[in-house]
Amino acid sequence: MTLQNSIKALAALGALYGATVAAVPTANCCSLLEAALPGRILSIGSANYATVNHDFWSSTTVLSPGCIFSPTSSQEVARAVKLFTDNQCKFAVRGGGHSAVPGAANTNDGVLIVTEGLNERTVTNENSVWIGAGNTWGPVYDFLGPSHKAVVAGRYYPVGTGLLLGAGLSFFGNELGLAIDNVRTYEVVLYNGTIVHASATSHPNLHRALKGGGDNYGVITRYELMTNNIPDWIWGGMVYYNQSQLSQVEDVVYDYHVDKAVNDVKTHVLPQYGFNGTTNETINFSPIFYNGALNSTPAALQPWLDAQPYRNTMRQAQMVDLAREFNAGFEYGLVQVQRTFTIYADKEFFHDVWYQFQVWLQEYRHIPGFYGLHCNMPVTPNAVQEGVRNGGNVLGLEGAGSRTLSILYFGLTFNNLSDTDKVFPAFAKFVESMIRLAEQRGVRHPYIMWSYAGHDQRVIESYGQENNDFLRRVKQDYDPAGTFTNLVSGGFKLPARGY
Ligand SMILES: Cc1cc2nc3c(=O)[nH]c(=O)nc-3n(C[C@H](O)[C@H](O)[C@H](O)COP(=O)(O)OP(=O)(O)OC[C@H]3O[C@@H](n4cnc5c(N)ncnc54)[C@H](O)[C@@H]3O)c2cc1C
Repeated sequence: MTLQNSIKALAALGALYGATVAAVPTANCCSLLEAALPGRILSIGSANYATVNHDFWSSTTVLSPGCIFSPTSSQEVARAVKLFTDNQCKFAVRGGGHSAVPGAANTNDGVLIVTEGLNERTVTNENSVWIGAGNTWGPVYDFLGPSHKAVVAGRYYPVGTGLLLGAGLSFFGNELGLAIDNVRTYEVVLYNGTIVHASATSHPNLHRALKGGGDNYGVITRYELMTNNIPDWIWGGMVYYNQSQLSQVEDVVYDYHVDKAVNDVKTHVLPQYGFNGTTNETINFSPIFYNGALNSTPAALQPWLDAQPYRNTMRQAQMVDLAREFNAGFEYGLVQVQRTFTIYADKEFFHDVWYQFQVWLQEYRHIPGFYGLHCNMPVTPNAVQEGVRNGGNVLGLEGAGSRTLSILYFGLTFNNLSDTDKVFPAFAKFVESMIRLAEQRGVRHPYIMWSYAGHDQRVIESYGQENNDFLRRVKQDYDPAGTFTNLVSGGFKLPARGY
């Protein structure tokens, strides 16, 4: 057996048992990469290394990669990935850098691939657009706006394409389903440097596996996304409520889940509650949106006005402006941590979990910059069925039947990394206790959404046995040497067995 084959055999064993194999020192990998693709590498200490390495939303995700690789084409990514596999170099892939999970999109002892240079945006004549993996959603909406088109994708300007591998809640979810279900083609660089196009007709199993399977299969270089029609102007904005209005808002949030989001699929609301530790104030500030040519608020969104927001920015707007407006306040460089779980929409549980979260948040409000965010995000029966109609994904949501699911988001922000030990374990414990409460009340759904999960939540396991078995079969076909298990720490790994 040659050295190369021995390394591959070890890697395959590692893939099977979830073990890590010894990797080549990063400095060697960086030198090999520099020799293969000169001019694309930023070394530690070089002018732009620190700037590029700090371009992450959460300060917890800024690590110390051995070097940074900034490709400008799929072929360059392919050469690099082959080199990484052949030499057992560790690496990480960054899209828009908005995951709050340390190590999901960065590495301490490997090469960081940043995708900003993969910035293609090309409209096809088949109601689709090819976008490079380095895009963020604001510029994509800006690009498509003049042709009255949009994509089913992220709602906040600087968030990246990583959500096209996990799930993807969007402005159009009630009508068109999750973002993953609107990816017509993934252009994927496999472990051996082969570039494949995974779609319903070409590599269909890989296409389906990527719809929730995340970074377990390859580096995505381009996405072909289905486009949908939008009017000249979208009706949307943000509604704000203060503490005294929140009980009425809770009713509207529940009604939105089980009635308005179901019966008027052009609506979109992202109900968000925020607690500011410094001011001890709680508000609701919810992005609100209607995909129609309107000049006043439609009946389906009227309950949000009836609850009398103290501020309401609803107007005729461009999508890019809404994406920018909604992102205001989500600053870079702070400590971020998040966790999530899913329930069948339940009014009493919505109330109780938010009440208990507020009680918990009070205990930590002395921490500098402390902020708590809680969201209830519906996934309607139609959204799930859109996924089925588009070839299926691996999330395991079909069993929810005619009941609307709600993705419950819990997020914390604060200033200093030195406070993480005080807060993170207690936060995890709190959310776990809410999961148990949901279980006791019979409202829990097992699904854990990739995009909002905490680092130790069992995302892929939550998709269920059948989907895990399918994902493992696809893994054998497309990543037999376990490159994306052993060399890429990534977000959430496909478990070697069980679920
Ligand atoms: C302010 C804010 C707003 C958000 N809004 C939404 C929203 O509207 N809808 C929603 O569903 N989610 C939303 N999210 C969650 C967001 O979708 C996830 O954080 C997502 O992972 C971000 O993708 P990214 O490319 O920015 O992240 P990154 O941190 O760069 O990547 C996330 C994961 O994807 C992997 N990855 C990225 N690109 C590639 C690639 N080309 N090939 C292989 N793997 C890759 C990374 O390795 C990493 O594991 C939001 C988050 C924040 C902080």
